Amino acid sequence: MKYLDEYRDARIARALLAEIAQEVRGHWVLMEICGGQTHTIMRYGLDELLPKNIELVHGPGCPVCVTPLETIDKALELASRPDIILVSYGDMLRVPGSTNDLFTIKAKGGDVRVVYSPTEALKIARQNPGRGVVFLAVGFETTAPANAMAVWQAKEEKIHNFSVLVSHVLVPPAIRALMTSSECRVNGFIAPGHVCTVMGYEEYEALVRDFRVPIVVGGFEPVDLLEAVLMLVRQLEKGEARAENQYVRSVNYEGNLPAQRVVKEVFEIVDQKWRGIGTIPASGLRVRDAYGDYDASRIYGLASITAEEPAECISAKVLQGLKKPTDCPAFGMRCTPHNPLGAPMVSSEGACAAYYNYRRDLAVR
Ligand code: SF4
Repeated sequence: MKYLDEYRDARIARALLAEIAQEVRGHWVLMEICGGQTHTIMRYGLDELLPKNIELVHGPGCPVCVTPLETIDKALELASRPDIILVSYGDMLRVPGSTNDLFTIKAKGGDVRVVYSPTEALKIARQNPGRGVVFLAVGFETTAPANAMAVWQAKEEKIHNFSVLVSHVLVPPAIRALMTSSECRVNGFIAPGHVCTVMGYEEYEALVRDFRVPIVVGGFEPVDLLEAVLMLVRQLEKGEARAENQYVRSVNYEGNLPAQRVVKEVFEIVDQKWRGIGTIPASGLRVRDAYGDYDASRIYGLASITAEEPAECISAKVLQGLKKPTDCPAFGMRCTPHNPLGAPMVSSEGACAAYYNYRRDLAVR
């Protein structure tokens, strides 16, 4: 297939559904890692079209959702300072911190600017040499190369008023943490295609071997996801566990090696706190000492800021596939996209926002 329309073609989707129904025998719990994949599943109703013995649960792959509360609080602290321009992707502005969000700070006069890339943030730094420009650099392996490149570029150009407030997370350690949990019910994973475009899927081999769990790299269109489900079902029914690639139009085994090199040059792997989930060993990135002058956390002395999660939000369970958003008592009532209590209701990739947009009627009243 060559064109996007073909990946949304109802006839192809129906044929894949028929094949899945023909091949499935057992009851399988499959997790799509990425929030973009969750939104496609909800939008096209794929979970309702699949045979009843295939259960789809939603994973932690929404970068906005897993950004720790204290990172938001640090961004709020920086955005409140008159000597700083806080630059961010639009998604982050409505994510609630402990007391506020970036939109509110902006409304009160804070200099918060929305960009589409860290290169734009660097441009703002060049244009405002008298002020500190901090880019809120969050995301999975997908966005890490561009953020690393911005830091590398700033050092090359000796731009000293640019820095990044980093909250980068990595997918394979998160899958390992899920699989070692006693509550885990997942039989197979759909790995995130965009992450694998950068990282390849070689690094999933260790997970397949250690947990005998099949992992299929999947794309983001309905036909992509149904094909990934079929590939997982075929493995599970034969008792096999392999790393496979459905998203061949974008992903190869090794990934994008130059992109990986720039990430390694600027960042190092550290234990990372995930919002609602807690600390996962070796699951995040931080700025290396050699680039420490570009690390906002160090420059502005933010390390002491800590925060507690709101008790009412069950996003930790949602992000681990243990609960559905509709199981949350606040869903659609006290928590809506206009008045979010937790990040999964804010982000365009959040599972709670997906259910609010496409399955609001399922909420328990
Ligand atoms: S519906 Fe709101 S409060 Fe409930 S888990 Fe989702 S984000 Fe948290």
